[in-house]
Amino acid sequence: MTSPVWHPFTQHGLNEPIPHIVSAEGPLLHLADGSTLIDAISSWWVTTHGHCHPRIAAAIAQQAGTLDQLIFAGYTHAPAEEVARGLIALAPRAAGQPDLAHVFYSDSGSTAVEVALKMALGYWHNLALDGLADARSRILVLEHSYHGDTIGTMSVGERGVYNAAWTPLLFDVDTIPFPAPGREQACLDALEAACAQAPAAFIVEPLVLGAGGMFVYSADLLRAMAAICRRHDVLFIADEVMTGWGRTGTLFACEQAGVVPDIMAVAKGITGGSIPLAATLATTPVFAAHHSTDRARLFYHSSSYTANPIACAAAAANLAIWREEDVLGRIARLAQAMAERLTDLAGGPAFANPRQAGTIAAIDLVARDAGYLSDLAPRLRAFFLEKGLLLRPLGNTIYLMPPYCLDASQLDRIFAALHAAGEKFG
Ligand code: PLP
Repeated sequence: MTSPVWHPFTQHGLNEPIPHIVSAEGPLLHLADGSTLIDAISSWWVTTHGHCHPRIAAAIAQQAGTLDQLIFAGYTHAPAEEVARGLIALAPRAAGQPDLAHVFYSDSGSTAVEVALKMALGYWHNLALDGLADARSRILVLEHSYHGDTIGTMSVGERGVYNAAWTPLLFDVDTIPFPAPGREQACLDALEAACAQAPAAFIVEPLVLGAGGMFVYSADLLRAMAAICRRHDVLFIADEVMTGWGRTGTLFACEQAGVVPDIMAVAKGITGGSIPLAATLATTPVFAAHHSTDRARLFYHSSSYTANPIACAAAAANLAIWREEDVLGRIARLAQAMAERLTDLAGGPAFANPRQAGTIAAIDLVARDAGYLSDLAPRLRAFFLEKGLLLRPLGNTIYLMPPYCLDASQLDRIFAALHAAGEKFG
């Protein structure tokens, strides 16, 4: 029977297999036919502690029977308060920089970024109302970025085939070249020149540009970029949607550069990947610009499920896991095990450009006709599926982003399949 379901990022015309998953635990997905897949990308980079973590599942069940939903405009509840305090306590901080001290909830990474962009423009708009600054509206973005699929987030992301149909809806931005090796100074110079034009904000994925190609850059560059923004009074927005929750080896990637963004978007692993929730953290100056006795300048943004109590309870359980367990130790061990195997894989002729930040590892398969729209990625997907793996290459870039509970034998199975892919497709 043909399914009525329209899947995201799926070309139904290709008739690729769509596995039917019935249950999951840790890094494993169980199929209806009794077989099992290793979820090597944490189900779109979210299930940090593995699927169906008992503490998170119990928190969800308990909250679902206590308070399931509440309008969040002017009302509050304990899980939202607890998670906001927990996020503030864990957020990056540095001497001499305003702390991230305010938490605005939403329900996806895209929305958290949309909120960040709205806060940035709202900040300048409201300062201008007070005659304290000129209104600013330009956004600076980094080449190859991805921030989501809504109109605003597509506008600040790389333009390409995936958003070509909607170009008339997208707003104009200034693009700063990615600091690839040898182009670092060009990137910083371009940022300096663009900041001198008084834009509103610069948005970055700290340390790793994800969906745009898994490009890694150094903490020194991140620090230099943030310093340029600070010097020119340009708001620095960190999109930690992918890099947050330990992915790059620290809880948030910005920590490695000693950078405190003015606005920070988090999502994905905020609930351990169990249920949708997102948050946008802001400093007191950004918050204060929106709050006075003037109703015209309050922050006009909401959605029905803002700060849903069940999702917040899942996030509270995630924060408890982070507080009480050695998650960073687990991440460091997994990252080391991945690094050893990645080095070995890169030694062969079929692969190039190995790169890694924490438990994000990527490598390019050297293949003819490896463009984004070639059939290489679907063929690789099918190949890995046959090998019992959920992997979703980006063109010829194969990347891993496994749950932190993955064990050595599961990692060996993944790398054995990567070697085999090199032999078959390289
Ligand atoms: N920002 C970054 C850096 C992401 O990687 C993603 C998703 O992959 C998003 C934003 C959008 O998040 P969501 O898919 O939850 O809307």
